[in-house]
Amino acid sequence: MYTCFDLHNHTVASGHAYSTIEEIAARAKDRGLQLVGIADHGPAMPGGPHLYYFGNHGQIPRQIDGMEIRFGVEANIISTDGKLNLPESLLKELDFVAAGLHGDTGYEGKTKADHTKALLGALENPYVDFIVHPGNPRFPIDEEAVARKAAETGVALEVNNSSLTVVRLGSEEICLRLITKLKEFGGIVILGSDYQQQCGRFGCSN
Ligand SMILES: [Zn+2]
Ligand SMILES: [Zn+2]
Repeated sequence: MYTCFDLHNHTVASGHAYSTIEEIAARAKDRGLQLVGIADHGPAMPGGPHLYYFGNHGQIPRQIDGMEIRFGVEANIISTDGKLNLPESLLKELDFVAAGLHGDTGYEGKTKADHTKALLGALENPYVDFIVHPGNPRFPIDEEAVARKAAETGVALEVNNSSLTVVRLGSEEICLRLITKLKEFGGIVILGSDYQQQCGRFGCSN
């Protein structure tokens, strides 16, 4: 049972981050974590890796110098019905699947109703383990509906450290309301750093 882990880390493969898997593993060991996840974006993100990157996951060691490694994806939700930018054949092969709304990925939702529908759709995807930065004020949602569905499906909602520090400003109050609702409905909260580089000072800007 792992109690101190961080699944939300980006490598150079995401196109907007600057560390390798080995650097992330070493940094996590320094910080006393038990396990780290690699969650690079899917190909819909500008600069993101080709699908081959995810298909070749068997090459990734699941332990580096004593640090447990899991290889997943931060999938981009690309439609208002919650469709992801990775096919099911890859989603089912990965160690975990995170999903979330991002700009510049082809997602065309514009309203709170659109974003809510998109997240509810993603929450019904059996391969999705958690929703990244649902508190992003850029994509307002019906918080109660999303928290209720997350609790029903057992999918965690993330509190993203970068959202509380340097990007997605305004997330904190929304996250607090989401946590409160999750507690009421019996849902799961997951913490993620959105790690992008060695000094860990900023997260992805979407
Ligand atoms: Zn991220
Ligand atoms: Zn993100």
